[in-house]
Amino acid sequence: MRKISSAYFLRGTMIQEIAPKKFDNTYCKDAANPDDTVFVFRDGKVLIRYDINSDAVFPKLSEFSGNVSAQYLFKIDDERYFRAQGDVFCPDGYEYESVRSLRHITPLYRNFAVMTAYQLDSWYRENTYCGRCAHKMIPGTKERSMVCPDCGNTVYPKICPAVIIGCVHGDSIIVSRYRGRSYKNYALLAGFVEIGETFEETVQREVYEEVGLKVKNIRYYKSQPWAIDSDFLMGFYCEPDGDFEIKRIDEEELSEALWISRDEMEYREDPVSLTSEMMNTFKKFGNAVLRGRKE
Ligand SMILES: [Zn+2]
Repeated sequence: MRKISSAYFLRGTMIQEIAPKKFDNTYCKDAANPDDTVFVFRDGKVLIRYDINSDAVFPKLSEFSGNVSAQYLFKIDDERYFRAQGDVFCPDGYEYESVRSLRHITPLYRNFAVMTAYQLDSWYRENTYCGRCAHKMIPGTKERSMVCPDCGNTVYPKICPAVIIGCVHGDSIIVSRYRGRSYKNYALLAGFVEIGETFEETVQREVYEEVGLKVKNIRYYKSQPWAIDSDFLMGFYCEPDGDFEIKRIDEEELSEALWISRDEMEYREDPVSLTSEMMNTFKKFGNAVLRGRKE
């Protein structure tokens, strides 16, 4: 009997895989100290500069002139991160850049930090007023929430669950291109979990909607917080149940969907996303991915 490889996933390159550094999002209401990092977001952009090694740097509180109202977000190891509230003067050497364009910044933990901070900043901004009675909301005292002092409505950070799907048959996998997206590389099939669904049902529904195939043998791979869109991604491999020929594609969502073989695939060199890592994993290990993940 052929020996089954005991490790068929790739290690440690996704955006949240920042070990040995450790992300800690325990809530507190501490004030910022001069050495703490303060993210300043404005219209989808953030204040950033690059050091001589081309590593991304975000301002410390001490670099701002004048008063900055800063709200605690989280820490990574002992480095504490805040968000600026209200207007601030831009410190020397920094510029605003689109958060969405920062996908490839280094070091990886600062990439993860700015994306996660952006998710929280967006959530705080979107919950300035109560959705039930329109009063001004205030931050919760004991947990990360926004609370309406008038009607008691409590809102927690928004996380949208979605699936990434590696549909595999023999030595091939289904890849797709999204319609109207700027990201033109091939992606895997994907979609949001609808109310009342399990993740497995989402996988079945999305593959059927997008390429008209029924699937079986749904195997969990890994998950990933994808903070810039407030998404939480669950990766699954699966295989067609019976017919594997793509007879139709969902033309509203996709411009293209096709089977490609391992030989035709190229390794993604910047696998910060679960999609890229799942494609690389399939490229390396083929349909062994259908046996489920092993550490
Ligand atoms: Zn209210």
